[in-house]
Amino acid sequence: MNKADSERMAGILQEMGYQEAENELTADLVLYNTCTIRDNAEQKVYSYLGRQALRKKTTPHLKLIVAGCVAQQEGEALLRRVPELDLVMGPQHANRLETLISQVDNGHQVVATEEHHILEDLAIARRDSQTCGWVNIIYGCNERCTYCVVPSVRGKEQSREPKAIKKEIEELAKRGFKEVTLLGQNIDAYGRDLPGISSSGRRKNTLTDLLYYIHDINGIERIRFATSHPRYFTNRLIEACANLPKICEHFHIPFQSGDNEILKKMSRGYTIEKYKKIIYQIRTLIPEASISADVIVAFPGETKKQFHNTLQVIKEIEFDQVNTAAYSPRPNTPAALWPNQLSEEVKVERLRELNLLVEETAKRRNFRYKNKIQEVLVEKINPKDPNQLMGRTRTNRLTFFPKYSSDNHLYKPGDLVKVRINQIRSFSLTGLPIE
Ligand code: SAH
Ligand code: SF4
Repeated sequence: MNKADSERMAGILQEMGYQEAENELTADLVLYNTCTIRDNAEQKVYSYLGRQALRKKTTPHLKLIVAGCVAQQEGEALLRRVPELDLVMGPQHANRLETLISQVDNGHQVVATEEHHILEDLAIARRDSQTCGWVNIIYGCNERCTYCVVPSVRGKEQSREPKAIKKEIEELAKRGFKEVTLLGQNIDAYGRDLPGISSSGRRKNTLTDLLYYIHDINGIERIRFATSHPRYFTNRLIEACANLPKICEHFHIPFQSGDNEILKKMSRGYTIEKYKKIIYQIRTLIPEASISADVIVAFPGETKKQFHNTLQVIKEIEFDQVNTAAYSPRPNTPAALWPNQLSEEVKVERLRELNLLVEETAKRRNFRYKNKIQEVLVEKINPKDPNQLMGRTRTNRLTFFPKYSSDNHLYKPGDLVKVRINQIRSFSLTGLPIE
């Protein structure tokens, strides 16, 4: 989500005539797009800002901007902490960057953090890839998970109109993009703030309806979406994914904890049994699907037994990948105030144990690719080896292969290549192109 916002803001700067500087210490304008999901992400911003604030003393024309979720969370307080800042702007204001910079040019120090209806994308994003594009479909989140800062910094849900989404994807297709990833914090909530009920009384503008609506855009070969919320994930969605050939066989569905008591304290709104049912339904209809998730360990009051319930779910489901994190108390969230916080040692130890299991499970799961042929969409040259290309399988596995085939054909970004997998690692594969 942050990368997509950064691309939109970079697009606006480019339209305004700005060019990319060699590095952040020579730039005339520096914009940090920040994340506050955990404390360590937030702390990074302050160390970067310290350096820039010093530079401003010798480079008075330097424009210094903090955008994103730390900006939203801290607002005016950020100006007090770093008075050298010119602009502090929350994520809902990303599309207004040009207007905000012109206020700075008029001599103001600007804080833009008020609740804002996101204008339909006037901004043309500067895409970092020529092959795979992010497309926001819903901003914000109306859930209230007790650990999570997102609703307070990204605001209420705002779905984009299906027509605007389709137009953006058509534009991407015209420019040669092959893959789109639809984005939302809780993508299953898509459309609940849009009008429309069908004659059968069902809501019309759901994620499933959107997938059917955008599926046939010429040139787009692959469609992905993230992040799914188990509370709202429907069988109708799984059926659509099974029926629609361009939807990739990969699902990112965080479960956060394998323990029902903890899930309740997190206010997640589902049980682990319901979660497993979703996974089994996916595997019944789409057997080759890969499944990834997010997990938090050492949530306040989590017992050893409850932690082991999380490990148990990972063993049972055999995830292809799990993003793991130790619980980090966040401002304005209920769980941060609870007295039963766990120690740093417990956090580190549980995270270590969890990561070992995740790695082992992912590797075992990857063995199903051994000697199998996978379709890889080439994204770029492997930065660590210029003779290799890198891309992803439909199941979202990072895959490397030589850029020349045995008969000297040169592959390039954007190509869909059949690759026979011969090396397996925990989080990536290597193979040889076969056609
Ligand atoms: N909307 C998505 C995830 C958004 S945040 C969802 O509901 O799943 C991405 C991930 O960061 C979360 O899934 C969670 O695992 C992690 N996370 C969020 N808040 C956290 C916190 N306070 N401490 C540790 N991890 C956190
Ligand atoms: Fe945070 Fe929960 Fe919303 Fe995800 S669904 S962004 S975890 S509040």
